[in-house]
Amino acid sequence: MERIDCLVAGAGPAGMAAAITLARAGARVAVVEKKERAGGKACGGGLTPRAVKLIRKLKFDAHLGHPVFYLEGNAPPHHYNCFTLKKPALHIARRALFDQSLRDAAQNMGINFVFGAISGASWDGRIFTLKTLCSKVLKSPRLIAADGAASRVRRSFGGTVSCQALALMADELETPGERPRILFDGGMVASGYGWVFPYGDGRANAGVYSVADISGAQMRLGLADYLKKRLAEDAPGKITGGAIPWGGYSLPGRAPLLLAGDAGGFADPMTGEGIYAALYTGHAAALAALGASPETARIFYEKSLRPLFANMALLRLICQRAYRLPRLGGRILGLKAVHGPITEGLIRGLNTSAVIGAFPALLLLSLANPSLSHFERRNRLPLDKASQY
Ligand SMILES: Cc1cc2nc3c(=O)[nH]c(=O)nc-3n(C[C@H](O)[C@H](O)[C@H](O)COP(=O)(O)OP(=O)(O)OC[C@H]3O[C@@H](n4cnc5c(N)ncnc54)[C@H](O)[C@@H]3O)c2cc1C
Repeated sequence: MERIDCLVAGAGPAGMAAAITLARAGARVAVVEKKERAGGKACGGGLTPRAVKLIRKLKFDAHLGHPVFYLEGNAPPHHYNCFTLKKPALHIARRALFDQSLRDAAQNMGINFVFGAISGASWDGRIFTLKTLCSKVLKSPRLIAADGAASRVRRSFGGTVSCQALALMADELETPGERPRILFDGGMVASGYGWVFPYGDGRANAGVYSVADISGAQMRLGLADYLKKRLAEDAPGKITGGAIPWGGYSLPGRAPLLLAGDAGGFADPMTGEGIYAALYTGHAAALAALGASPETARIFYEKSLRPLFANMALLRLICQRAYRLPRLGGRILGLKAVHGPITEGLIRGLNTSAVIGAFPALLLLSLANPSLSHFERRNRLPLDKASQY
């Protein structure tokens, strides 16, 4: 059997970032993935400026969807904040196309894909073994687990993620209206928000996100109510969703397993954004696999993630407070002296810690040469009157 330098479990953004980075350095990689074609993953496909910046920096040939410059943010009770930006607030991509573009890039590089669902993983002190339902067995001294929120590999090693948020969505909804715009509506479900992400071709996905411990049934009611209010949508068709793990992971034992993306609980709890962290940690896991011995790769990897862990700790604090006091949070965010610098930072691709650290400089920047070309604030507008799509 041909020697495999590193196994990658899962061909989502984390797995593809890992595999492409490894292959570019000349490592022999095998990606084990259960689905032959990308698709079916519930996701809004919102690519933040930092995600787009990372994709460009890593020179990944990824489908970026449609840039959207216009954004509305509402917070309870009836704030209506409307931003027009000089740079895209988000790129909105159909998730299956985004994933497939990364897979195509990997396959064009000659990366070996093994299709089959992983049924278990183990480590004998030197070599990892991955077993699949199609009875293929793969072995390698290195293993990157990027098999998503319910990671079979992580669970095989007794690993857990700290916290899970929940998101439900409907896709391919018709959105009449001239100008594609992103909507964030705070408070549509407990400790969360509703969103509408337009693809720029008259269609959009819309959903609800919550960090609270609420049931799927409550989320469904929240989604139905939101779709009716915002898009006058009575029968949204298929509803999909899933857990979004955040707060990092705990992994008992000494196995030098590298957990990337949702498998490691790296999503942003404020927004549920997970694609950026998946790409970032997938890439970092590959660098650790390349730069350290198999035994020390995990130490190397976790060290390299310290800034991400620090940002996650800060987000945890902010998130718990902001979602507990949504009215206050909404009012603070509605202040120009607050949202101006935050917008400057976010569209430059900074993370939360960096935005807070650079706040005075960003404030000056937002006054001198604002990225916000237009801002409109109207208080006390009921949500369904705030804007019609
Ligand atoms: C409703 C919803 C909306 C979201 N919207 C956004 C958004 O707009 N923007 C954003 O940035 N993030 C969003 N997220 C979060 C984002 O989707 C995830 O954080 C991101 O997909 C994580 O990437 P990943 O590569 O770690 O895992 P995944 O994308 O889940 O990829 C895991 C891969 O592993 C494969 N796999 C799983 N189990 C096995 C197995 N047993 N054997 C073999 N292969 C396996 C899967 O088929 C998949 O290809 C959303 C999440 C949800 C639930």
